[in-house]
Amino acid sequence: LSANDLNFSGGPGALPHEVLLQAQQAMIALPETGLSVLGMSHRSAWFRELLDEAEQHIRDLLNLEDRYAVLFLQGGSSLQFSMIPANFAHGAKRPTEFVASGYWSGKAIGEAACAAPVKVLWDGGADGYHRLPDFEELAWNPQAPFFHYVSNETVEGLQFHQTPRMEGATVISDMSSDFLSRPIDAGRYAMIYAHAQKNLGPAGVTVAILDTALLDRIPDGLPPMLDYRTHVRHRSIYNTPPVFSLYALTLICRWLRQDIGGLDAMEAINSLKAGRLYQCLDDMGGLVIPQAERDFRSQMNVAFRFRDTRLDALCLQEAADAGFSGLGGHRSIGGLRASIYNAVLPAAVELLAEFLEDFARRHG
Ligand code: PMP
Repeated sequence: LSANDLNFSGGPGALPHEVLLQAQQAMIALPETGLSVLGMSHRSAWFRELLDEAEQHIRDLLNLEDRYAVLFLQGGSSLQFSMIPANFAHGAKRPTEFVASGYWSGKAIGEAACAAPVKVLWDGGADGYHRLPDFEELAWNPQAPFFHYVSNETVEGLQFHQTPRMEGATVISDMSSDFLSRPIDAGRYAMIYAHAQKNLGPAGVTVAILDTALLDRIPDGLPPMLDYRTHVRHRSIYNTPPVFSLYALTLICRWLRQDIGGLDAMEAINSLKAGRLYQCLDDMGGLVIPQAERDFRSQMNVAFRFRDTRLDALCLQEAADAGFSGLGGHRSIGGLRASIYNAVLPAAVELLAEFLEDFARRHG
């Protein structure tokens, strides 16, 4: 395995080697046009076809009903944190509703609060974000402009393993760090969004899937770039999109369907990888403390720390010496985090698990 195969970064993360080779070739000359992908016009027929293909992959992978629009936006998931309340909670009488399950839901809540009243239905902050609520326990209001939650808390490594069944609620989910890592019941959501830089490609593009019924709720007078209707009308080519990022995203979708075999197959691989790492942490006994309680463990981000905090730094140093990268925990909680997105190979996870087992033997 190469150094790049041992990249466990939280995002931007590892991309499949096959895709990198195709992207490398496209830098010089796209097979279809003979021009560098970096110089391709966003008004070319090639690009329109590319976007149509990308959209179709996402529709097929998620079995999307026709009522959904698939948009490719810029500004990362952070811009969605502000666009969502600006579009759907403007002048609302009732507060928007949120689950505060970790660092990124905290960001979403903070940005929504700039635009609209916010009500936090459940907050895991007091005990340090180790678990998630059951959707059934939440006292949500069907009249709230929307209900928002983060399906996978990237920093803490907490993932919902259930789908909200909230008939009548406008459910919006930030799936940035687990989008296309497993099948989902897309029909339960009013909107799903995810930036590319985990499972979909390089940074620069954010996928937003929204029920077109939501478009009627948008107030007039928003700046056009911030109004979802603009992007629906222009089919994601209102201004210049990140052509290269969208090219890579399309290659990743092809890889996911043709090489991996779709989301069921991807989930099976991801479960094996996560299972191997969590087993390794569990077998280390009291030496490490996983961040997530067992039922909420993320299949994408495995966050943990050593009981003896001095071992965190030592482990990171030894891991770096052994060729692993990206294992430092997020600056907000420290410790370690192995991000095992779709493109991280099972063989790379096996090497990491063996490294951790050896580290534990030497320092346990
Ligand atoms: N949501 C989640 C779940 C994330 O993990 C991140 C970033 N890692 C963001 C939102 C913010 O994304 P961006 O940097 O694209 O604005």
